[in-house]
Amino acid sequence: MTKYHPGTIAVREGIEDDTHHGAVVPPIYLSTNYTFEDYHTPRDFDYSRSGNPTRNILANALTKLEQGAGGVVTSTGMAAINVVLQLLSPGDRLVVPHDCYGGSFRLFTNLARKGYFELDVVDQTDAQALAQCFARKPTMVWLETPSNPLLRVVDIAAVAQQCQASNSLLVVDNTFLSPVLQKPLTLGADIVIHSTTKFINGHSDVVGGAVVAKTDELAEQLDWWANTIGATGSAFDSYLTLRGLRTLEARVNQHQANALKVAALLDAHPAVDKTYFPGFEYHSEHHIAKRQQQGFGSMISFELKGDDQHVGKLLSALTLFSVAESLGGVESLVAVPATMTHRAMEPEARAEAGLKDTLIRLSVGIENGDDLVADLQQALDALV
Ligand code: PLP
Repeated sequence: MTKYHPGTIAVREGIEDDTHHGAVVPPIYLSTNYTFEDYHTPRDFDYSRSGNPTRNILANALTKLEQGAGGVVTSTGMAAINVVLQLLSPGDRLVVPHDCYGGSFRLFTNLARKGYFELDVVDQTDAQALAQCFARKPTMVWLETPSNPLLRVVDIAAVAQQCQASNSLLVVDNTFLSPVLQKPLTLGADIVIHSTTKFINGHSDVVGGAVVAKTDELAEQLDWWANTIGATGSAFDSYLTLRGLRTLEARVNQHQANALKVAALLDAHPAVDKTYFPGFEYHSEHHIAKRQQQGFGSMISFELKGDDQHVGKLLSALTLFSVAESLGGVESLVAVPATMTHRAMEPEARAEAGLKDTLIRLSVGIENGDDLVADLQQALDALV
């Protein structure tokens, strides 16, 4: 199956697998438990927390898309992160980016405070600072690239080489691009995680997560932990997410086409101070994004000129961008990281990460791109 393009894998996984009735689309298995063949012999599944046929199809599809050895579907993206963190023991070092998703940052810092592991928070685009972290022999290095919300891009292959040299596990949060646009395992990462809530499901109606590992051994460990801590996803959520996944490539193509138009408008508009989009040649890591990604994605952040009042005015003038957290759904969204997605970060940590109060993040949806541009244009024009 992996010889196919992502769009084909996403559409075909599990299709025509039903041996009972020949259903084209795989049925949903809601049963929590499964009979044993006899009391010594379980079948393929015994209890739905440990394994579920519907969840398995989604895990297989994601494993193939990421080109891994095995995967686990979890109840949320945070649960996926938590499963991976179970691989660490007290005294182990974890290196994380200073500008990752606020909820990930909250989990990393609070578990470190409780002594679960030692934590190094670093600007991973700063090669010297990263080298200092490697000198302390980390057990695990965590990347989120492009990062949320400033869309900084880290060279996965280069960090993977450093990880190999220091025997560290490399984990990449691939939520912002999906396997259609980036495959970290092929660049040397050991583990990929997703908030499937975002592009993978794509319809803003399921919260979910996934972990895919490069080796069978790692996949088995992660599966064991997911079952042990009860982090696995439900059958119903898996069914819906699989349904969303079918159109991933088609959606991503439309998302990206729209994002290019929106980014061009922002870049040229006098009400905008600075636009963060890896597709621009002036983006400091554009050359890396061009090499390691199969596209620039559809997340764009920008700093508005002025203050909080300008932000409020812009947001209330928009009609096609809903003011909401999350991203990657078919509908366009606008968020202010400082008061929304990243409010879990202390103001000092936000400042350290370069998140200004006038920073605005767009998740560009798949509406007609010209309509999106017109809507944004009228709202920005009203500010100047
Ligand atoms: N990773 C990234 C990059 C995210 O943006 C998010 C959520 O916004 C998460 C992880 C957490 O995922 P979830 O909200 O599904 O728990």
